[in-house]
Order: sequence, then structure tokens, then C-alpha cells
Amino acid sequence: MTFSPELKFNDGNTIPQLGYGVWQVEDDVAEKVVGQAFEAGFRHIDTARIYGNEAGVGRAIERSGLKPEEIFITTKLWNADQGYESTLKAFEESMERLGLETLDLYLIHWMQPKQEKYVDTWKALIELQKQSRVKTIGVSNFSKEGLQRLIDETGVIPAIHQIELHPFFSQAELREFNASKGILTEAWSPLGQGGELLESPVIAQIAAKHNATPAQVVIAWHLEIGNVVIPKSVTESRIRENYAALEVNLDATDVQAINGLDRSAEGAGRIGPDPAVSDFA
Ligand code: NAD
Repeated sequence: MTFSPELKFNDGNTIPQLGYGVWQVEDDVAEKVVGQAFEAGFRHIDTARIYGNEAGVGRAIERSGLKPEEIFITTKLWNADQGYESTLKAFEESMERLGLETLDLYLIHWMQPKQEKYVDTWKALIELQKQSRVKTIGVSNFSKEGLQRLIDETGVIPAIHQIELHPFFSQAELREFNASKGILTEAWSPLGQGGELLESPVIAQIAAKHNATPAQVVIAWHLEIGNVVIPKSVTESRIRENYAALEVNLDATDVQAINGLDRSAEGAGRIGPDPAVSDFA
């Protein structure tokens, strides 16, 4: 079986570049589909406290018989749990649900600028890493300014930044900023949540050229530009299809054509909230 390439973090650890995300997947379904993802070849799973399926992911891990060193698990600290002590507590609760001793990657889910707790939360993640409860620490949904503040106030640079990123919203500036700090970029909603992006004529043309599907072309674009990418599907054939995107090799012309789909210059493309201003519990 082909396994995903690994990317190296600034702390020396590595992450499988292609992973499988489980947002909006019920706990029982998560157990089934994460099992199917493991069978397809995925070894990297992206969950979060707020998804309500850490226990289902944990049962899938247990049933798979895979050893902890063979898999890579990410979970995220929810907004309502930000703050130093509350983060340490929320981490233990997540670990109990996942049934793990050590976590591969823990992320602050959203910056939540108005709460003003993200620096204290980051200090708790630094402590968890010092205690070897988590191997690698990072953030999700931060602004450049927020990232810079974490670095200035703690001296610890996040290893990865998980952000909304797909061809309609390709985040060139934030990707460049992450790279300038040695932070990997991870794409959420990498397929633009399905729909219009996967029906784009530009994508269709490239798919036909490579005898691939639109979803595979979009995943291959993420891999080509250096993103960690975590597509979601609860359909077994699509889980396999998305994994097989590892076999699709785009050339520079394809990448350039897909880069041209970005809509941010028109102030469009973003699906989710803007992390720099959004605060929600
Ligand atoms: P996605 O972009 O991965 O799109 C998923 C949807 O695309 C599916 O529900 C299905 O409708 C369609 N799809 C998937 N494979 C397909 C295929 N082969 N052919 C046709 N259609 C296909 O959307 P997502 O779930 O929002 O994002 C992926 C993961 O990113 C999530 O599961 C989660 O792990 C993570 N995420 C993180 C955040 C965050 O705030 N950090 C936010 C959203 C998502």
C-alpha cells in the first residue's frame, strides 16, 4: 500500500501530509468511517472536542489494531475551554475519550480575539508538550497578528496552522507568512465542502487530462503546493478515491490554472468565519 508523504514540523516530528477529517460526523458513524479510512490507507485523523466524535475515533483506533506509532491523531481545544487550567482539564477529557496516552497534535481551535485568552491557552499547550502528553502543538484559525503575539510572548512557534483553504480561497498571503516562520499550513474544507468547486470547468479539464476525479485534482493541488490536507467523506468509495489522489501528479500548468480560481481579490471565496474578528462559544 502507498502511504502518504510525511512533512517535517519545526519540532522535528513529522505528519502524514494527507489525512482524513471528521467534522459533522456522528460519533457512531465516526467509528465506522474512520475504520474505512484506515483500510483505505489513511493514517492521519483530524477530530476536535466540538465534533463530539472523539470517542468514536478512539473506538475505531482500538478496533483497527494499529499501534500508536503507526497512526497520527489530531484533536482541538474548544473555544469555551480556553484559559490555562481549563485547557489542561479539557485535554485530559479529550484523551480519555480518544483512549490515548499520548497525542500527536493538539491545536487551539479558534483564536477568539475578544476572549483574550489565547496566550494563556498556548502556555498550557507548551506545558503539555513539556510533559510529553502531546508530541506537537499548533493552532487553527489565527490571524498573522495573533500568531506573532504567541511567538513574542512565549518564544514558542506553533508547528502548524490549520486554516480554511481551497482553490476559491487559497490564502497565498497567510501561507507565505506561515512558511516564513517555519509553520506548516494545513487546509480545512480543502474541497470547499464539495459543490461548486468540484463542478468547476477548470478542474474538470485537468481531471480529464489525468484520468482523475475533480476531488482528486483538488487534493493533488493541495499536496503539490505543500499543504497538509484533510478531506472528509462518509462514503467509502469516496474515502478510497480521496486517498488515491496520492497517485495524481499535477504539472506546473495545472497548478497555475487552479491558482487562478482564487476569489479573494473580489472579497469572496471564504466559506467560514474570519478568525481575526469572529468570537463564538
Ligand atoms: P471538505 O472540503 O473536506 O468537503 C467535504 C465534502 O465534500 C463532503 O461532505 C462531500 O459532500 C464532498 N466530497 C468529499 N469527497 C468527495 C469526492 N471524492 N467526490 C465528490 N464530493 C466529495 O469539507 P470539511 O469537512 O469542511 O473539511 C474537512 C475537514 O477539515 C473536516 O472534516 C475537519 O476535520 C476540518 N475542519 C476544520 C475546521 C477548523 O475550524 N479547524 C473547520 C472545518 C473543517
